[in-house]
Amino acid sequence: MHYLPNSDRYKSMPYRRTGRSGLKLPAISLGLWQNFGDVNVLENSRNILHLAFDSGITHFDLANNYGPPPGSAEENFGRILHEDFRSYRDELIISSKAGYQMWDGPYGDGGSRKYLISSLDQSLRRMRLEYVDIFYHHRPDAETPIEESMMALNQIVRQGKALYVGLSNYKPEEAAQAITILRELGTPCLIHQPKYSMLERWVEGGLLDLLEKEGIGCIPFSPLAQGLLTDKYLNGVPTDSRAAKSNSSLREDQLTDEKLATIRQLNDIARQRGQTLAQMALAWLLKDQRVTSVLIGASKPEQLQDSLKCLDTIDFSNDELSRIETILGQ
Ligand code: NDP
Repeated sequence: MHYLPNSDRYKSMPYRRTGRSGLKLPAISLGLWQNFGDVNVLENSRNILHLAFDSGITHFDLANNYGPPPGSAEENFGRILHEDFRSYRDELIISSKAGYQMWDGPYGDGGSRKYLISSLDQSLRRMRLEYVDIFYHHRPDAETPIEESMMALNQIVRQGKALYVGLSNYKPEEAAQAITILRELGTPCLIHQPKYSMLERWVEGGLLDLLEKEGIGCIPFSPLAQGLLTDKYLNGVPTDSRAAKSNSSLREDQLTDEKLATIRQLNDIARQRGQTLAQMALAWLLKDQRVTSVLIGASKPEQLQDSLKCLDTIDFSNDELSRIETILGQ
């Protein structure tokens, strides 16, 4: 059946300005790292995308290597985009990235101009797009001069293949250097995409301050720590969960007794707030105005539905914050 988006889709989602740029992003964005590859059921992926757009999520995050197999998330997204969202392209912010191993030989990985430009051309073909809204260097590459990677990002924007550029996984010192070079080239860095959640807080050691000073947005990835910051693992490992899959990015041995004890205590606070733990974990990130958007994943529409409700209770009392700090500091 032909997809008709919800006409109320812009009524409840807050949109936050990305740093000091002109671009606003939804407080919640959807990532397609997992659950959108050829190994997944296309109709489930389609349902998640419909629900996201119907709920005011305008930003979809991809990368060359998302799948599995690598490339298939972009292909499947391109197909659904073409079939269902074609007339809404101007309402969407679509991002892609290159920086990890993608194809054989010396030009399919890293940060060279050759790799970044060829990879984006491939991503555009897979997604059947003329341009992406944001193109990221996915991770720093110590073997390539940072100037070369930034010049490639600048060239990509000047060629009209991306509207904005971003950095991902760059530490504060590397990010500061890249930000300066991009500004000098006339293509300012829009946004930084770091791993950030209640369980992984390295960005608080300088990166967030840098981004605020430079007027650059921040979009934390894996804000639910890949599902750890939900109630799903409190009574064992569900067979359809990420931790149960073979060769998964979340290994069952990461679910230590210590971590589960932390999660259980956080879950108690969430329940006292009338939220699920997933909702509290997202609200906890969004309480910081330097966080432009949280970049979540979902394997089912119901998870997305649950996570979206974080927006109902975004404030924390001082008492809740200090109890959370105590739990995380144990
Ligand atoms: P999350 O931390 O949001 O984890 C998502 C997973 O958590 C889901 O697949 C699901 O796991 C579980 N989950 C989500 N919502 C709920 C819920 N409400 N209740 C119970 N379980 C839930 O994010 P991801 O790790 O998936 O990363 C999000 C995005 O960030 C990626 O898609 C990608 O765009 C980006 N990213 C970027 C990286 C980079 O280097 N720049 C690296 C990694 C991610 P399950 O499958 O078990 O059901």
